[in-house]
Amino acid sequence: MKFNLSSLLALSAAALLAASSPAAAATRPPKAPAPSHVALPKDVTPERYQINIRPDPEHLKFLGSETIAVRVKAPTSRIVLNAADIAFQRVLLISPSQTAGGPGEAASHRIQSWTPKIALDKDQQTATFAFDHPLAPGRYDLSIDYSGVIYQQASGFFALDYTGDGGTKQRALFTQFENSDARRLMPSWDEPGVKSVFSLTVRAPAGQMAVSNMPVAASAATADGSQLVRFADTPKMSSYLLFLAVGDFERVHRMVGKTDVGVVVRRGKTAQAQFALDAATQLLPFYNDYFGTPYPLPKLDFIAGPGRSQFFSAMENWGAIYYFDYALLVDPKLTTEADKQNIYVDIAHEMAHQWFGDLVTMAWWDDLWLNEGFASWMENKATDHFHPEWKIWLQTKAGEQAAMRVDARAGTHPVITPIHDVFAAANAFDGITYQKGHSVIHMLETYVGPDVFRAGVRNYIAHHAYGNTVTDDLWREIDAVSPKKITGIAHDFTLQAGVPLISASLGKGGLTLTQSRFGADAASKAPRTWRTPVTVAGLGEPWRALVSAKQPATKAASASVTPLLNAGQTGYFRSRYSPELEVRALAAFPRLAPEDQLGLIYDGLALGEAGYAPMGDFLATAKAAQGADNSVVLRALAQQLDAVNDFYEGQPGEAAYRAFARARLAPAYARLGWDTRRGEPDNDAVARRTVLGVLGALDDPAVVAEARRRFANWLQHPDSLSGTTRQTVLQIVATHADAATWDQLHALGQKATDITDKSRFYRYLGESHDPALADRALALSLTKDPSPTDAPELISGVAGVYPEKAFAFVMAHRAQVDPLVEPTSRTSFYARLASGARSAAILPPLNAFAATVPASARGEITKAVSNIRFALEIIAKRLPEVDRWVAAHPG
Ligand SMILES: [Zn+2]
Repeated sequence: MKFNLSSLLALSAAALLAASSPAAAATRPPKAPAPSHVALPKDVTPERYQINIRPDPEHLKFLGSETIAVRVKAPTSRIVLNAADIAFQRVLLISPSQTAGGPGEAASHRIQSWTPKIALDKDQQTATFAFDHPLAPGRYDLSIDYSGVIYQQASGFFALDYTGDGGTKQRALFTQFENSDARRLMPSWDEPGVKSVFSLTVRAPAGQMAVSNMPVAASAATADGSQLVRFADTPKMSSYLLFLAVGDFERVHRMVGKTDVGVVVRRGKTAQAQFALDAATQLLPFYNDYFGTPYPLPKLDFIAGPGRSQFFSAMENWGAIYYFDYALLVDPKLTTEADKQNIYVDIAHEMAHQWFGDLVTMAWWDDLWLNEGFASWMENKATDHFHPEWKIWLQTKAGEQAAMRVDARAGTHPVITPIHDVFAAANAFDGITYQKGHSVIHMLETYVGPDVFRAGVRNYIAHHAYGNTVTDDLWREIDAVSPKKITGIAHDFTLQAGVPLISASLGKGGLTLTQSRFGADAASKAPRTWRTPVTVAGLGEPWRALVSAKQPATKAASASVTPLLNAGQTGYFRSRYSPELEVRALAAFPRLAPEDQLGLIYDGLALGEAGYAPMGDFLATAKAAQGADNSVVLRALAQQLDAVNDFYEGQPGEAAYRAFARARLAPAYARLGWDTRRGEPDNDAVARRTVLGVLGALDDPAVVAEARRRFANWLQHPDSLSGTTRQTVLQIVATHADAATWDQLHALGQKATDITDKSRFYRYLGESHDPALADRALALSLTKDPSPTDAPELISGVAGVYPEKAFAFVMAHRAQVDPLVEPTSRTSFYARLASGARSAAILPPLNAFAATVPASARGEITKAVSNIRFALEIIAKRLPEVDRWVAAHPG
């Protein structure tokens, strides 16, 4: 799954930075924890589901019937499985299973059946079937008739409405099950460790298309004019990977080797599907080769649905990957260069899951990172292979920084984290699981070398295909083929939270590296040790050392040397130089590789904010970086300057800091300008959008005036803006909107026919800096005007500017807002709204909100609280430092 980091980024760079850690100061090397979680009993397990679904989209409900071939492994008088929002009409257990044994075996037994008593546990989302006698071990058929709900948010079985060609109202149906919503389509053993075969049949309106994991095996017209579509049996797989969609779709496709690769879109949208089809065509052979096991299903579809979710943008259902439009379709008028790159990366991500996650699946949610960290690393490896010009590894550094900031504060968690129950699993979809996970894998791959790492991965896939694993199964395979063993290092980085700090100093013995812990608050300063692979450049040959708290490393070096820590920036740690070495590193800035320039910028701000170094070091780095020629470096500079600006809202030094920040971006603005130049590198367009956006946020008068001029012109000449420039202009105009402009944007949103375009207009309506307009946006979110999936986006937009206002509003209207957000992500949605607050006054209501949700679901709230506390500390302690430095270094 691709979780919505982008919506977090939109809140503000600083709002992302949440996190922390259990205070335990374990200095012994960590070992894998014993699993302890609430799960279904395993004395009865499913082998094959035969499921029939009859949707009633008009009334948002459906009828279901299923026959589950189950195996009773030990005598028991009850069967427990998952069900949520399911009404049971009839449950029958039939013995012996007619699917059991060889031909003729079933017929030789007398068929018996029993009707159990049904008990539902709404909180645990289980149904218990109690029998009046113990069931003997063996095979049975469990036959169930039931009805369920079609939702209007993207979880379970859900409907998305849109306007079709000619203005007709259309409704399409889709499913989204990760992590625990398959139980909303069918009573089931809805846990990743329970794999079964699924045989799905759906009744669909004549003329519509039904899509699932497997190709259609048979379809037949029914007496009422519908069609009954039966899909081929899936391989053995986890329930969260099942998929179903029904709608007025078209499919473009092509054979890639033996695989039928297709993109399924709403009628009329096939032109926008070409980019995705081409990307998948490119990537499939790459993955077949990398994993050493060819993609095992006969087809691989990418399905686009209108709308959005606050939780995710795409989902790796096996053979039927789901995306929201904006994450899959390319429209030159609306898609920016960054969107296009994200689409490619998202395709690479979900395709990697077809092996890592779908073919081989984590046994329980504790190891979610094994899916997500791996896919997040692989998306970049594959993208970089085909698009080296995008410098994707450099671009990943921004997300990695966000994870590191969370990881240095209260609320963080180890990459492998105990997940007590499925409700806590939703908390695991975060920057630690995805970005720290991918960084750790990148570090380990660099440590053993890419060929050795791939050999281990190939064995891992081959040995565990169609099965379930824990993380140590992967380390074991790599260690088996690698001369350098990684399990110890991997345990240090995945079983304990936190960020190592590697410090360099020069003495009589030469250059010494020590390891301590980088913590931004008291909870994160408890000592901890990591065996950290460190590469140092600047000493002649690169020096590779394994440094831990117990074992510093020293190498002879001349007194005038300029060492560069974490050369290549593949290590997951912060780097700190002694003051003399810091001065030398900064002087070398223009000659450094872009990734190392990024390292200095990111570490500079992080060390400054947390009080490990003067904020002046970061500001001096920003001055050095303003002349950088790499677009990714310029973009990072703009984002970091914006992050500091975010703390300055309403503070005394605001004007002076903004002038300083604008001056740092002036050279980039002069180089990039407003318009795409013929033949320019793709990344210039990405950097241009960020630099202009940040200059807009810094109230740069020339940039705001130019955006307004272009907007006015565009109203007269609708073809005058497209792609990246269109979004840049609209966003700057929206954040600086007065009431008349806001009304214009509102009218444009109402008129927009493209779902993604419409959705963006509603987001813009929330982003005005005028508090009265923010109130209007909030009020609008509860009307029928925005679509049900755009309404929360409007509220998120307001939270980016007025977090206190947005949070107070949703708390006052919870009964109306709750249904706008899928249940899985409701708590994190609310927590994220508050996360950017810059006033302690929000803490009591935030704590009051925490008391209303189960303890296991409070992770995101804890992160929001630590984010707010850290921001308050930066405002109180660091901004005065910035004020002084800026005053002392004019220009
Ligand atoms: Zn994923």
